[in-house]
Amino acid sequence: MKVICKKNELKEIISEAKKTKNIALVPTMGALHKGHKSLIDRAVKENDFTIVSVFVNPTQFGPNEDYDKYPRTLEDDIKLCTLAGADVVFAPSPKEMYDDIYFEEKETTLVCPPYKYVNKLCGKSRPGHFDGVCTVVSKLFNLSKCKRAYFGKKDAQQLFIIKKMVSELDFDIEIVPVDIVREDDGLATSSRNTYLSDSDRKIAPNIYRGLNKAKELYNKGIKESQTLIDASMSYLEEFDVDYVEIVSIDDFEKIDIIDKKALMLVAAKTPDKKVRLIDNIEL
Ligand code: AMP
Repeated sequence: MKVICKKNELKEIISEAKKTKNIALVPTMGALHKGHKSLIDRAVKENDFTIVSVFVNPTQFGPNEDYDKYPRTLEDDIKLCTLAGADVVFAPSPKEMYDDIYFEEKETTLVCPPYKYVNKLCGKSRPGHFDGVCTVVSKLFNLSKCKRAYFGKKDAQQLFIIKKMVSELDFDIEIVPVDIVREDDGLATSSRNTYLSDSDRKIAPNIYRGLNKAKELYNKGIKESQTLIDASMSYLEEFDVDYVEIVSIDDFEKIDIIDKKALMLVAAKTPDKKVRLIDNIEL
């Protein structure tokens, strides 16, 4: 497996590989865990050349977010990718990825999804986040020349927006959604789980318990979103809840009565270390 930090080197390897191989991309911010591994395993299985990008993307972090303290564990990430059978880890520096204008003016050419997609859920409390995500993912698509790209369902709004971007910008790329990977107690694995204190870690699985409770009630015939949201909220009394919402899986519009495939999503900050956790469940 090759570890590459320069775009030019990546281009050279890809110009060879793409002659005979189907290229897959798994975009990550590193601090890889078993959730990332399931994306990489799937990509390795379904394609003959897998690139894992490891890049903590500055343009998707707000000024008061955790860009500086985000965990960076490149050596361990390289080991995980090697064992999983990836062909390339692409781990550029911010200066390699963005031109000088970004560092001088804090501006760059951006790919901005429509307001309708970002004025809700994570986009509402993280203004500009999805512009940064779409920008870096577009750059990685262009650099990797991938035919398939793998994204986790854990970041459901991101997955929805990336799919829209691919369709609206005519990228010739298949987006492959991958199921959420959880710890034994139900907590969705996340690089940010390393921020949790012991007391946070103990109650963090309540997020998933609340989602499961809602799904159980839904399966029993309760279709009013508010009733399900209230049931889920009762598990989150100790958290600072950003949102608990139910949206249609097709367009991410809020629904009051669930009469089509829906997704229930939560974002909440833990009481001690204020770690913002997200999770969701299909209804
Ligand atoms: P990140 O490094 O957090 O930007 O995540 C990189 C990719 O891994 C994204 O597509 C995430 O949705 C996905 N991912 C992160 N955690 C999980 C998880 N627990 N289960 C499935 N996919 C995940």
